Amino acid sequence: MKIVTILGARPQFIKAAAVSRALNKVGIEECIIHTGQHFDKNMSDVFFTEMEIPAPHYNLEIHSLGHGAMTGRMLEKVEEVLTTEKPGAVLVYGDTNSTLAGALAAAKLRIPVAHVEAGLRSFNMDMPEEINRILTDRISTILFCPTSTAVKNLKAEGFGKFNCRIEQPGDVMFDAIKYYSQKAEKASTILATLGLSGKDFVLATLHREENTNNPAHLRAIAEALNTIHASVPVVLPLHPRTRNYLTSHRIQLKVILIDPVGYFDMLMLLRHCRLVLTDSGGLQKEAYLSGKFCITLRAQTEWVELVKAGANVITGAHTKKILAAFKKYRSKKITTKALYGNGDAAVKIAKSLKISNW
Ligand code: UDP
Repeated sequence: MKIVTILGARPQFIKAAAVSRALNKVGIEECIIHTGQHFDKNMSDVFFTEMEIPAPHYNLEIHSLGHGAMTGRMLEKVEEVLTTEKPGAVLVYGDTNSTLAGALAAAKLRIPVAHVEAGLRSFNMDMPEEINRILTDRISTILFCPTSTAVKNLKAEGFGKFNCRIEQPGDVMFDAIKYYSQKAEKASTILATLGLSGKDFVLATLHREENTNNPAHLRAIAEALNTIHASVPVVLPLHPRTRNYLTSHRIQLKVILIDPVGYFDMLMLLRHCRLVLTDSGGLQKEAYLSGKFCITLRAQTEWVELVKAGANVITGAHTKKILAAFKKYRSKKITTKALYGNGDAAVKIAKSLKISNW
């Protein structure tokens, strides 16, 4: 059986690594399409190399466009590849434009779609990710949910009555952390490079449109991070989009700004930081799985179980709320990993695909 996997953005490379290995083990042939959504070395190539993801069979090189143009061009190109490759199924990850374009191209060709990270909801339709994940779920045949909340969301939307299968293998990001942590410890030199070995520091990331595209949000978060940095160093691997917006709005981030890092470096920063501040989806879970409290710089999270478990607080882009959360939780440690399965989601996904009678 042949599966076509659609990848395009950084979090998808991380999610796909373990699944690629597992597909290979169960004897499923995988053909990878890289849409090109993230294309530079730091946000794409480094993950393929470090995580030993098979090289893409097709590179569509579609990037730096608005949502409509990007999704439309991907749809057209993915359709061409699927028509040539004739796979038994298409595998998509997460909530990006590449996810939606891949799923839509497949569904229109009557090729079954398997969606990894199905069922997540922030209940905020202003987020492009929310639109992508809802539409992708609706046209998927197998919905691989990372959490029981995700399963409940699908049931509440009536997915029980649709022609699809809902499974809960756990979260593939747990697989990634488990598998790569030791390798990262040996290979990464980030702490020494930044002069942070054995030192106290905070890790931050910032790239979601609700913050980058809103100067008031960007300014409020910058003010909070600058204040925190005055007492504990803040390390922030800066997404290129955020860098552009900071420059165009003349907003100063006076923290340790570095280029986006590879996954090994990120794992080391996570393991050794005091706490995480982020608007990233993936990083919220990785903070938890690394035993770190997370302050979420968004108005909602799709990872609600983290908030319920007391491992995450939602502050939005409010300087005072961020600073109050930092003061309150700066020493909090997280001691459980129970929310996201057992770190064997990839194997469960591959086995399920292998026995699928589409
Ligand atoms: N990440 C990384 N290097 C960075 C920033 C993020 O390796 O400089 C990883 C991070 O650990 C997580 C994933 O990229 O696994 C999350 O991607 P991102 O924050 O871009 O997207 P989101 O999860 O919000 O969709």
